[in-house]
Amino acid sequence: MICMARGLKVDIINPSVLRELAEKFPDEAERARRKYKRFDKWLTGEDFPTYNQLVGLSRIFGVPFGDFFLDRLPEKKECEGLVCVKIDLSEDWDMGLKLTRDMWDEWAAENKIRFFKFSEFVKEEGGFIDSQLVLKMERLREYCGFPLIITSGYRSAQKNQEVGGASHSYHLRGEAVDVSINGFSPSMLYRLLRGAFLVGFGGIILYPAHVHLDIRGVEYFAVSDYNKQGKTK
Ligand SMILES: [Zn+2]
Repeated sequence: MICMARGLKVDIINPSVLRELAEKFPDEAERARRKYKRFDKWLTGEDFPTYNQLVGLSRIFGVPFGDFFLDRLPEKKECEGLVCVKIDLSEDWDMGLKLTRDMWDEWAAENKIRFFKFSEFVKEEGGFIDSQLVLKMERLREYCGFPLIITSGYRSAQKNQEVGGASHSYHLRGEAVDVSINGFSPSMLYRLLRGAFLVGFGGIILYPAHVHLDIRGVEYFAVSDYNKQGKTK
């Protein structure tokens, strides 16, 4: 990822990816057009969005930020009614917005979040949660078809210490949740884990009473050694 000031125009994106998106998702394109006056100029490559506008576009179209830099849109395939996207987990993937309480309502409405409330992800004052994590949880919930109880989302450094979390825990960055599996049947647990793979969670760790899910940029699956270390990631 090239480092750039947020106000600068990002003239290394591929306008044809934006055109592909606009053709595929006309409603979203209309929304982008209403929000950004220069949208049509971005389509033709006459002008380019700024970094922040690009983040806005990735939200509107529901695609990873990094897609705009590719030669063409990655292929999506349907699996059991769930759209799963095969993506290259590059650094760009980790470009979720950090959603605060103030940002939540508008963002959640725009992204049609039906299953979760902000307070399920963030219980501490001043906390935040990563938008990519929320989108994945929403898709996972839809896939599972049963409620998912989040026992821990964002954690402050102090809270993380209290619960014995790993020092570089993804919870500190609002990029992880723990989902309770208390009372789950084996088939529910299977569905939760399978769904977590399908929607593209990077880290999936099975603990005795919960599953930890995070959006790290590599695939990582483990059955916890919780009892040995007494740590919870
Ligand atoms: Zn965790």
